[in-house]
Amino acid sequence: MATSRAQTAAQATIQPMSLGEFDLIAKYFVRPAGQGPRRAVVGNGDDCAVLAPAAGMQLAVSTDALVEGRHFLSTVDPARLGHKALAVNLSDLAACGARPLGFTLALTLPRVDEAWLAGFARGLLDLADEHDCELVGGDTTAGPLAIGVTVLGEVPVGGVLLRSGARPGDELWVSGHPGEARLALEAFRGTLHPSLPAEAFDATRLAMECPQPRVALGLGLRGLATAAIDVSDGLLGDLGHILRRSGVSADVFADALPLSRWLAARPRHEQLDCILAGGDDYELVFTAPPERHAEVLALGAQLGLVLSRIGSVGHRDGSAPRLRLWEGAAPLANRWVSFDHFRQPSPSTPAPNPGEAP
Ligand code: ADP
Ligand code: MG
Repeated sequence: MATSRAQTAAQATIQPMSLGEFDLIAKYFVRPAGQGPRRAVVGNGDDCAVLAPAAGMQLAVSTDALVEGRHFLSTVDPARLGHKALAVNLSDLAACGARPLGFTLALTLPRVDEAWLAGFARGLLDLADEHDCELVGGDTTAGPLAIGVTVLGEVPVGGVLLRSGARPGDELWVSGHPGEARLALEAFRGTLHPSLPAEAFDATRLAMECPQPRVALGLGLRGLATAAIDVSDGLLGDLGHILRRSGVSADVFADALPLSRWLAARPRHEQLDCILAGGDDYELVFTAPPERHAEVLALGAQLGLVLSRIGSVGHRDGSAPRLRLWEGAAPLANRWVSFDHFRQPSPSTPAPNPGEAP
């Protein structure tokens, strides 16, 4: 019987795979008995995974895809890529105050490269184990390298942190040291003058390739923060989502922005570009009432994580700007735009696409 064109095309894409699809899944993504978290009622290997949310809990679900050439370079260490693919999803759970339960993995591979797969699976599953988050299923196909993760978490009924809860009078906070990932990206692109010393490059590259999702912070902010978001597209842009959803304005004080050791050594314009519009940070921006100030600081101390109060939330009257930036007592013009996959940057845009391959 004549082979259909679709079949021929399918065979052509499947052929480069030496190890078969199911062998590959069994070898790298199904955990041997007794290894890794075991939370699913039915886990990896059946048609569906089955999870049982605990009484009084709601499921929080989020998906993020990473595409070669768009979100990472082909030369990236596969273990770091595996880590990042899950980290960016755990970061969304963190922003909602959700505790990780499990995740699925949609993997599109150009070929079976076992050294690559072993590294990727190690980076992915090490982070999964760290957060007690079980790989419960997925899909594996041949094609241009792309990684899709859907993560599932749980949050008490009514306890989810949303973008819409900020209230006038709240304080505005950010975790950690945003801006490092962008500094590394610009070092890769060769745009930095003076260039980055080797030690700074290694440290900031780690921040870019191996972000630490702020899961514990998100859990600690339940019942404390009024709104939260994770910073993936740039601090100002992501803060803008909170302000729009909450119908409020904000004042951000540039001199209160936390400077990492590496950013502290850079020119001021570069510090601001990286912190305010860098992207790929996976820190949390959140709002909390001023009377909870000490509790926020205590949470940061308990987690060993710097939490910086960077501004205030205000009423928004009519056409007044949503966001006002200050450098000391002087207003600072907002020349930063946040990253958008489908918007062409204008020639005057100082911020090319964060996380994107040069
Ligand atoms: P189906 O065709 O029924 O959708 P598949 O043949 O695609 O199932 O997958 C077989 C089993 O392997 C399923 O349990 C699926 O969840 C799991 N699986 C497939 N790919 C992956 C992956 N990349 N990581 C983890 N589990 C996977
Ligand atoms: Mg399938």
